[in-house]
Amino acid sequence: MLTSICGINWGDEGKGRMVDLLSSDFDVVCRYQGGNNAGHTVINEKGKFILNLLPSGILRDDVVNVLGCGMVIDIKHLCEEIARLREGGIKITPENLKISDKAVITMPYNVLQDIMEEDRLTKATGKPYGSTRRGIAPVYADKYLKKVFRMGELLNPELMYKRIPDIVAWKNMTIKAYGFEPVKDEEIVNYFETYGKQLKDYIIDTGLYLNEANKQGKKIMFEAQLGALRDIDFGIVPYTSSSSTIAAYAPIGAGVPNLKIDNSIGIMKAYSSCVGAGPFTCEYFGEKAVKLREAGGEYGAATGRPRRVGPFDVVASRYGIRCQGADEIALTKLDVLDIYEELEICTAYELNGKIIKEFPFTDVLDECKPVFEKVKGWNCDISKCRKPEDLPKEALDYIHLLEKLCECKIKYVSVGAEREAYVVMY
Ligand code: GDP
Ligand code: MG
Repeated sequence: MLTSICGINWGDEGKGRMVDLLSSDFDVVCRYQGGNNAGHTVINEKGKFILNLLPSGILRDDVVNVLGCGMVIDIKHLCEEIARLREGGIKITPENLKISDKAVITMPYNVLQDIMEEDRLTKATGKPYGSTRRGIAPVYADKYLKKVFRMGELLNPELMYKRIPDIVAWKNMTIKAYGFEPVKDEEIVNYFETYGKQLKDYIIDTGLYLNEANKQGKKIMFEAQLGALRDIDFGIVPYTSSSSTIAAYAPIGAGVPNLKIDNSIGIMKAYSSCVGAGPFTCEYFGEKAVKLREAGGEYGAATGRPRRVGPFDVVASRYGIRCQGADEIALTKLDVLDIYEELEICTAYELNGKIIKEFPFTDVLDECKPVFEKVKGWNCDISKCRKPEDLPKEALDYIHLLEKLCECKIKYVSVGAEREAYVVMY
């Protein structure tokens, strides 16, 4: 059985936390896109962990974790992340971690390119893309230019190293144009020798592995990084990631394009948050923003950047649910709204005096104004609630209203960051 867990909003919905919870029923957890720009915070009985490249299933002893072919892997970062988790008592071996031979390697010069371009944009336009500066956009661009190294090549270094001089010469044309020091071939050899070697035993044909696992009746979960609105096609371009974050891409990015997803669970936040630049129609400013940001602890897990916040956005969330083909929703961080006597929901956008309810094309988003409606809050601590009956009436009303407005069932409600802090609604 194949299940996908994906983000409905702008990311940071609590996907890592929900994968950590739901993975108890799964044999395999697989990341299928993105790189170490992800930041999933997971808190469980083993401690607090921040995961950038590793699937959140790595925190369970009996789950096999896969880094799929749709990913871009910074091998230095991966080695450091593995070491950091091992220090925290997590077991990581080729038995429970498998890396696709077809996954692309993020290079140090991709990280440099990302920084050079964000800085150029800042100077030239004052409007950088809000990149995490970890080389993700440049390495995906190189992938489509077919000028990358893939993980499987690390198993055959002689052949791999022969390709270095030409790729480096080509990349240096760009680096020099930005006025930076060119990269040397030896630095690249050194990168592969230092970090690639440590990862050799983990590299396999993960598509074959996943097909076998599926045949044996194993339960496989696909874990997305980032939300629907950061998808390279469907998101708020160019303020998106550079990969497909949507569930329909999961079988491809995992390496099993022949298999179909049985269930898509969308992770949706009870309010809105958005890290970095780009249109964010429902945004709160001033004191209103500070209050919600502090209550939700909205600071980036990967970068520490303060996240922009706002109330729940029906227009964007309905679009996100459609993009993800979500069968059911896990609503997260409902407890953050405990502080309000009265809650706002963004139910529509206003564009040039017209009310719109469908998410518009990106270029007009900047001119859209939010339409807020008020509902009663519960204004009490719900973090100890474990059953629907435990929740106050106003909280249940809020959940049911979101279900109605978004046209999707809410199955799970999370009321705290800890593994057990959740309610199953039906
Ligand atoms: P992800 O990138 O989608 O995995 O989400 P992040 O980890 O970046 O952001 C979610 C943050 O909210 C993390 O710090 C979690 O520990 C925390 N969190 C997740 N679910 C809940 C919840 O239900 N309530 C509260 N208060 N915090 C939560
Ligand atoms: Mg995150």
